[in-house]
Formats: sequence, structure tokens, C-alpha cells
Amino acid sequence: MKSNIELPYKLLLLVLLTLPFSLWGQKCQMTEKRIAAFDKNPELVLEANRINQFTERWIEENRDLTQSRAVVTMPVVVHVLYLNSAENISEAQINSQIDVLNADYRKLNSNFSSTPNAFQGIAADVEVEFCLASLDPNGNITNGITRTQTTINEIGETSSFYSTAAGGHDPWDNTKYINIWVCNQSDGSLGFATPPGVADPPESDGLCIPSVYFGTIGTAANSQPNHLGRTATHEMGHYFNLEHIWGPEYGGCDEDDFVNDTPNQDTESGGCPTFPNTDYCTTGGNGINFNNYLDYSDDDCMTMFTEGQKMRMLAAINGPRASLLNSVGCSGMVATEDFSSFRNLISVYPNPANEFINISFENKIISSNSSWQMYDVNGKKHLDISISEIKKINVSHLPQGIYYLSCLDYPGVVEKIIIAK
Ligand SMILES: [Zn+2]
Repeated sequence: MKSNIELPYKLLLLVLLTLPFSLWGQKCQMTEKRIAAFDKNPELVLEANRINQFTERWIEENRDLTQSRAVVTMPVVVHVLYLNSAENISEAQINSQIDVLNADYRKLNSNFSSTPNAFQGIAADVEVEFCLASLDPNGNITNGITRTQTTINEIGETSSFYSTAAGGHDPWDNTKYINIWVCNQSDGSLGFATPPGVADPPESDGLCIPSVYFGTIGTAANSQPNHLGRTATHEMGHYFNLEHIWGPEYGGCDEDDFVNDTPNQDTESGGCPTFPNTDYCTTGGNGINFNNYLDYSDDDCMTMFTEGQKMRMLAAINGPRASLLNSVGCSGMVATEDFSSFRNLISVYPNPANEFINISFENKIISSNSSWQMYDVNGKKHLDISISEIKKINVSHLPQGIYYLSCLDYPGVVEKIIIAK
């Protein structure tokens, strides 16, 4: 449903500041955090309205684009902040979360078939994918994960989570990476995210999700009904400027999520309603879109974004979040100036390769104890090679794909190697 976009934010500021905290959402805290930011810095209200005006304009100007677009990949860094070893979740658990994001944003989620037929026609392949960063901001190979032991309880409720000095972890350049902090919060809180332009301070831009709701295995496995990684799917929607499906406040039929194809909805859903589920605002027909990722239904009940929500997210990706498109976080092809000159002294051939790659270089530029590695696009190490065997490397056992060759003597990637079978 559409409405004037400036008015809701004015109402948001004026009305919500008078509400008792006990009425505020216990699950996603995006709204609460945004109100606090608006209250502290009213300039952010203007910025949010400016971004929403851009968004409406962008959607209007791009509504004739064909359905299928180039898929874009968003680089993610996960900062694990843990009080105890249980919260220091495994790489496998983190990967399970990335897998959920990639399925949900490509309409490849295994539970999509449970979407009511009436809504399947407006369900969107958002054509956005996510990768754990393979290069950190300094150009070093990374698995896209930082780990920090902290002593701060419920660090997600504090201003410490985005500060190394305060016991959390500084963000990686948040114009180039989506920062996700895995951070403890008070009981019942599933997490929050910052919509574009309203992070206060800017260092806090990103997502914050407790370990027990992050991914689908390990500590998340027993978190029913929030055990399927859909908290991050929901919060990532906020990060790309989606509102809750009932609107930016807490209910009522005058509220609007600024998306045309989502049925007007009074307030949050819970559990998993039976279709058709009508409410005070949508009293008949197909009812409300309770299986939308921006509702509060159970994880196994959430199945879809709408085409209208996709357009709003694409507007963010082509507007206030556009710098992410230029990130090399996932490409593995960044180099400093000094490093470029080093790379020019090395040749790697053949490339693409199948059985072997040969590396030739001037001995004087490599130390006698150097070691070399090959990583895949997810940052997983496949080869660890000592100097003695550096001239000819057997790659016949590697699966087809893109790999990055690095040398411990230098930061960054020496060469991108394609293994073709
Ligand atoms: Zn939310």
C-alpha cells in the first residue's frame, strides 16, 4: 500500500516517543533502534525521508526493466563476539547462515512450495547473493570471519559491539562490506539491523544477531521456532530498506510499508496462520501475506519476498548501498601499488589450468622460507605449498572453479587461477 512517505516518519518520531517501552517489539529491534537514533539526531529523519524519496523515484524510473537482471554478490564479514565458547560458533554454523541468505534471496528456499498459491505469483527472486569476504580491507586473504572474546554481557544492547576498544569489534569499511555482528542480546530479542542512512553512529551500520538465531546448526539448532536462519533474512531486508510488512510503526491500517503489492496489514503475525488469514485491515480475499520474511511468523512459515519488496531493495542497492557493488571483498583481486609491482615479476601459467600450474619468478623477490596457498572463492584453503616445490604445482585434484594464489611474503592475491576440467 502506498501513502505519503514523509508523514509516517514524522508520526513515527512524534507518536512512538510517547509509547511505553513495554509495547515495543520484543523480536526484531530495528524500529526501537531507529527511534532512538531519530531521537538523538533528528537530522536522520530528514535523511531517511530523502532516501525514501529517492527510492520512490528510482522504482518509478525502473519499473519497465525486464524481470531478470544481473545477479549481484554482496560481501559479508561476520564478527563473532563471544562471552563463552558456546557463543564462539563454528565456521560451519556461519556458512549455514550464508546458505540460508543465498537461498531466500534467490527464491531457492526449500519451503517455498508451502507458499499459498495466491502469493506465489508475486514472490520474487531478488537476484542478490552473499559471500563471506575473501579479502579483508587490507587486501589480505580472509575467511570473512573475525572472532573476539568479550566480557560484556548482552553486548548487542550496548554501544560496544561496533568498537574494538570497547570490547566488541570495529566494523570493516561499511561502504565495502556488510558487517554482521554475532552478539548476545537480552532474552527474546532476535536482533536488529540499520536501514540505509540511519545508523547512529555510522560505525554501527549493519546487522546484529545473537548466536542462537544465527544459521541452522550448532547453537541455532534448538532455537525453535527461530532455528532456520530467517532472522538474518529479515534483518538483511531492513538493511536494504524494507519496513516491517505492517509498516514503520506498530500497527493500524493507516500504516504503510511503502510497497504496492503487500496487502495492508494491521500488525505482526505469530506462529504460522492458516491461509487465508484476514485481519482488521484486509478483511477478505487472500488475506495478509503472513509468510513474508518481513513479518514475525515462525522461521518455517516464512517463504518469500514480494516483487515490490525486491524493487525497494534494488533501489537501495543502486542508491544508498551502491558502494557495495564496487567492493572487491569477494573478488580476491585487490592489490596495493607496491604489491602490483611484485605481481608483475611473477608469471603463472597455464591459466586456465587443468593438471598443473607453473610459477616462475625472480628468486630475489621471494624469501627462502616463503609459503604459498591456494584458496577458493569462499576463502577455504586447498593447497599449502612450500618453497621447494613452488615451480610446478599439481592442481589436478581440485574441483573446477576459481581460486586465488597467495604468497605469505606479500599481502593480497598473486593470481586468480581458473581450474577448468
Ligand atoms: Zn524487523
